[in-house]
Amino acid sequence: MNIANNTIATIHFTVCSSDGTQIDTSRNSEPMVFLHGSHFLIQGLEDELEGKTIGDKFIIDVAPELAYGERHETLVQSVPKSMFEDVDVNVGMTFRASTDDGEQSVMIIDINEEEVTVDGNHPLSGLTLNFDVEVLEVREATEEEIAHGHPHTDDGCEHTQ
Ligand SMILES: [Zn+2]
Repeated sequence: MNIANNTIATIHFTVCSSDGTQIDTSRNSEPMVFLHGSHFLIQGLEDELEGKTIGDKFIIDVAPELAYGERHETLVQSVPKSMFEDVDVNVGMTFRASTDDGEQSVMIIDINEEEVTVDGNHPLSGLTLNFDVEVLEVREATEEEIAHGHPHTDDGCEHTQ
């Protein structure tokens, strides 16, 4: 069976930035299981996996526009520290914020006496990502999995409602 929409695929992957720094890997833990076509994966990886089958291995570079998007400097903003008066703020802290584009995840990237600088870009935006992938398993999704939009395990549905 080949990976296509409404199949469940199991893969091992390692992802690095273009300078070779490892960002994440499944190889030291459980492989990743996903419903193909559900946009669980970034677009560039999902496109490459289409048609692959058990045992296939490949290495690809995925440009930002097919990964986590380009960086937008307009999403980096400084706000008065007084807005955080009830919170003990730290660099690296993430939280949900209301912006002109709606609710968004932002990260604190700098703090000084008066201001807190927050970044609404995805931490991996602007990066070309290198994926090293091996396909371990492909099976048809069940009707229930398709309806839920994610894989189920032998124990059934893991997601909370
Ligand atoms: Zn479910």
